[in-house]
Amino acid sequence: MDSRTIGVLGGGQLGRMLVEAAHRLNIRVAILDTETAPAKQINQIANSSHVTGSFAKSADVRQLASKADILTYEIEHVDTKVLEELEAESPFVADSQSWHRIQPSWQTVRTIQDKYAQKQHLAKHGIPTADSKGVGTSSPQGLKEIALELGGLPIMLKARTQAYDGRGNYPIMKVEDIEPALKSLSDRPLYAERWAPFKKELAVMVVKTAQEASGDQYEQSTLAFPVTETVHEDSICKLTYTPPREVPSKVQRQAQDLARKAVSTFQGTGVFGVELFLLEDDTLLINEIAPRPHNSGHYTIEACHMSQYEAHLRAISPDLSSTITPGSTDLAVNAAVMLNILGGPQPDSHLLVARSALKIPGAKVHLYGKGDGRPGRKMGHITIVGKSMSEIEQKIHPLIILVDSIRA
Ligand code: ATP
Ligand code: MG
Ligand code: MG
Repeated sequence: MDSRTIGVLGGGQLGRMLVEAAHRLNIRVAILDTETAPAKQINQIANSSHVTGSFAKSADVRQLASKADILTYEIEHVDTKVLEELEAESPFVADSQSWHRIQPSWQTVRTIQDKYAQKQHLAKHGIPTADSKGVGTSSPQGLKEIALELGGLPIMLKARTQAYDGRGNYPIMKVEDIEPALKSLSDRPLYAERWAPFKKELAVMVVKTAQEASGDQYEQSTLAFPVTETVHEDSICKLTYTPPREVPSKVQRQAQDLARKAVSTFQGTGVFGVELFLLEDDTLLINEIAPRPHNSGHYTIEACHMSQYEAHLRAISPDLSSTITPGSTDLAVNAAVMLNILGGPQPDSHLLVARSALKIPGAKVHLYGKGDGRPGRKMGHITIVGKSMSEIEQKIHPLIILVDSIRA
């Protein structure tokens, strides 16, 4: 489909699902990660371009760059300094004078990987987010004053970098929480966010593409996937419901428009996962943005005309980006529900859920090949699509009970 090799920084489950999508389109992918990373397990023999190493090490990223025509990410915690250097050395794909080979741009990733810088970027562009302030103090009194400036408690204390699955967040509900919060995040750069009293969390995957315009220039545009409702437990995504339950279609359109507007402020093409808070009065705030396919977009594999993974590969490829046309991100079914399979108390607890799901006609089981499970670790997911939300909620119900009983 495309003669170019796509190099991916990171080879976890998102990389693995990128590889799955790449296979069907006969797109070559090279992964930078440990030798047995989930993404490598499923295309080892066919591919000698993989690099063993870390996306956080410059020499390893350079090695991947030497084997790939286009560089992209499945995780934002990468070394952006080496990407900046690579961009300066040769910015464009070999036989194209203006298609950047790093997609999306390293600048996008640098801004997004620092969650406070990301918040400031969004605020600068007039995108509504929870008010936030940098925390340069380790004194409880100092943080108390910052909380007051944010309108008082509660607030969410957050690590600026290296955060995922809520590891890096500490909710401060009352004054007594301030000290333990500062202690538990003591070794990390911090910022504080005003509490967002949301009634629901939503997410929108947005694909940014580029079409050749006049001369050698490209014009970027965005398309939104359907809005999905995300249900978190202990700050980890547990379930997604698409379309979101009890959210008027007008509000869904507003969420898509806001997500597209936010993504359009960043440079480069690809899929972006946009997390939103829906407040009581139906107004929307953006929580955070990922410059890559996202957990809350897994449902697109079974439920949409094109998955977020296929969308990402096509969007970052110069010859395929313009093939993503309106309609391609639409739902092909009426409803979809996705349940994350987390690790439990035993190394193989998660397999109980996977086996039970296999007995449900139509339940699609995805296992990531991560080896032993640990509590809270994402080991796989299950998607069920159907004619109505009530039909598939009934089907998924016994699995939710099972997940809860394993966890308890
Ligand atoms: P991810 O795995 O999505 O990258 P993360 O570690 O970056 O997670 P956040 O998305 O910042 O963490 O927060 C995780 C969850 O914590 C949110 O989905 C939401 O449930 C809750 N949360 C975050 N910020 C706030 C806030 N300002 N007010 C209320 N709840 C919040
Ligand atoms: Mg995050
Ligand atoms: Mg998040």
